[in-house]
Amino acid sequence: MSSSKVNRIPGRRFLHSPGPTPVPDEVLWAMCRQPMDLADPRVDSTIAACEAGLKRLLGTEQGDVFLYASNGHGVWEAVVENLLPLGGAALVPGTGHFSESWAVQTEALGRRVVRTPWIEGLPIDEAAVVQALRADTAREIAAIFVVHTDTSSGVTTDLASLKRAVDATGHPALFVVDVVASLGAAPFSMDALGADVVVGASQKGLMCPPGVGLIAVNPRAMAVSQANPAPRFYWDWVRRQSELSYRKFCGTAPQTLVAGMQVALDLLFAEGLEAVFERHRRLSGAVHAAVQAWSSAGALGFFCQVPQARSVSVTTVTVPPGTDVDALRSVARERFQVAFAGALGPLQGRGFRIGHLGDQNPASILGCLAAIEAAMTVQGIRFGPGGVEAAVQSLKDWPA
Ligand SMILES: *Cc1c(COP(=O)(O)O)cnc(C)c1O
Repeated sequence: MSSSKVNRIPGRRFLHSPGPTPVPDEVLWAMCRQPMDLADPRVDSTIAACEAGLKRLLGTEQGDVFLYASNGHGVWEAVVENLLPLGGAALVPGTGHFSESWAVQTEALGRRVVRTPWIEGLPIDEAAVVQALRADTAREIAAIFVVHTDTSSGVTTDLASLKRAVDATGHPALFVVDVVASLGAAPFSMDALGADVVVGASQKGLMCPPGVGLIAVNPRAMAVSQANPAPRFYWDWVRRQSELSYRKFCGTAPQTLVAGMQVALDLLFAEGLEAVFERHRRLSGAVHAAVQAWSSAGALGFFCQVPQARSVSVTTVTVPPGTDVDALRSVARERFQVAFAGALGPLQGRGFRIGHLGDQNPASILGCLAAIEAAMTVQGIRFGPGGVEAAVQSLKDWPA
């Protein structure tokens, strides 16, 4: 008889990737349930509660909400398939690896993409967007796909300003916004902004496990989808406009995840959305204070060069050439129980990313920053002193 080795690690492991994010206990408990018969009215009421909660969170009264058993890439695909005919074009303003990934996916689906250049460290280049729209005299661009917070670069674009600039061109393209990384972390209102379509996912600011994608569609975009001859089935919005949950999801709903989402939305509203956003502002301020201190040695730095464009969800920290970021992450994760993310795409190896969105508090942020300092010390990475102290200073006025 061999005795099994117990591998339990005491205490909580901290998750500071910018998605997936930690799932609150209340959400986990809500998912501890048996699946239900498809005709059970509790399935419908759970879905209806999520739809209503998401409309409130997204700030829309006129939009239809569609939920998908998918991740963020799934809802990107839904946008392309519903809004663009085959051969149709979208404008994708460059803001980092995520805007580029959406552009590549759009092209893979047989559509054309007009890009504005991604300027490293900066938000979307408004002037370049305006120029691209003005140059489109044939009005071939049917939609603009805007990533609000690019999770790779840690840059948030001022959507209201961008939308004003777009409107001033008189170009009729639909304004489509990806709030996957900012929903539930930064203020957003679909109707006030005048966005036509908004996409999000469950595993970031919504504090749920991965697996549910969401889309809100206003009547103007719905009409475009209705008129779009491109073949589609699973992703089709018109097909999903139904009272029947089996139709809403084009098949069986991910009941367990939806049950979790209902509770996650309740948690956000119970805290109060303004309080949720303020918490994210303060916690991100603490992370930014630490990174500022780390950068005083000249080796580390902010990827985002515009302080007011630094995301409340995720901070991308640059490292000197030759730094083994994967080894740093392994040390932090395996020795100090804090998981954070590497940099993506063209930034791979040039930095790391600290997620500070979702179910986070001062303890989790201070623990995360201290563990990163510990891991950098182990790895011999040079960083300016006083990062944790700076974070403490920035959090000392935390409301009781
Ligand atoms: C995470 C993310 C996505 C992709 O979501 P997946 O669920 O990984 O497919 C898309 N856009 C943004 C801004 C993201 O942060």
